[in-house]
Amino acid sequence: LEGVIIKALSGYYYVKPAPGRGTPDTDVSAVQCRARGVFKKRGITPLVGDYVKYTLTENGEGTVEEILPRDTELIRPPVANAHLAVLVFSLKEPDMNVQLLDKFLVHIEQAGLQAVICLTKMDLADESDDRYAQLVHLYESIGYEVIITSSRQGTGMDRLKQRLAGEISVFSGQSGVGKSSLLNALLPGLELETGIISMKLGRGKHTTRHVELIPLDNGGFVSDTPGFSQLDFLEIGVEELSDCFREFREYAGGCKFRGCTHTHEPGCQVIRAKEEGDIAESRYTHYVQFLEEMKDKKRRY
Ligand code: GDP
Ligand code: ZN
Repeated sequence: LEGVIIKALSGYYYVKPAPGRGTPDTDVSAVQCRARGVFKKRGITPLVGDYVKYTLTENGEGTVEEILPRDTELIRPPVANAHLAVLVFSLKEPDMNVQLLDKFLVHIEQAGLQAVICLTKMDLADESDDRYAQLVHLYESIGYEVIITSSRQGTGMDRLKQRLAGEISVFSGQSGVGKSSLLNALLPGLELETGIISMKLGRGKHTTRHVELIPLDNGGFVSDTPGFSQLDFLEIGVEELSDCFREFREYAGGCKFRGCTHTHEPGCQVIRAKEEGDIAESRYTHYVQFLEEMKDKKRRY
């Protein structure tokens, strides 16, 4: 039998039967499984999101026999096979943080995930404010999908839900942007606490976190723990950074020097593109800021 692990707790793995990868049967409840001892011996820990082969035991429980190869693997939260990161931002309460958005995008490019930028609390924007339109324009032109939502008014929920179908998704965003409210709106009956304790992030750093995948009724799964909560650039090489700015790639190949950092080098095509308006000023500025941050970190460690 094949299934997907949706919860790991106290040595048990809860496996939701899935007839094929990405098409889990959300009507069937999860089977409580133990992992075969051989995993432990080999130092392999099954993760939430793992597609596994399992057998049923006589007592109605199961045994995880094999972990199928992982497409992606996140560390925070520990989730396998997530394909989609939903980056949640609000224009107000809290204010839009475009630098953080670009930072999330760097990590997502590096992790090999797809991003959906979700601009929420649309109902708070006043008519004269064209920042939403500008953000949509900028990020769509780079090639990212942007969805505008309001959990309060139900705006954009159908589109967001459709996007999550058949995927394992992780929501990311600062505390208070409205992640829990979005999930509650997507999943009537879920009732994550909003405002006071946001998802599991608010429970404090030192509590053991149990990630759980919440099944959607359209075959998708959403992690109940937000991703990328503590971002740092230790694991990214300086050369890799510019690759993680998607729209730089087509220009970087034309730079005069190999290993061009796109900061001061003569003949740099990224700088030229920025000056000609083909690369947005804000994106370039954040690139340079992240580069500095990375150098600082490397110096300190
Ligand atoms: P989280 O920390 O990202 O999970 O954010 P929450 O979902 O807990 O929301 C934080 C606060 O924003 C709560 O007081 C929500 O009621 C409010 N909120 C969330 N979504 C919306 C929205 O679409 N419109 C408005 N006006 N408020 C919202
Ligand atoms: Zn360059």
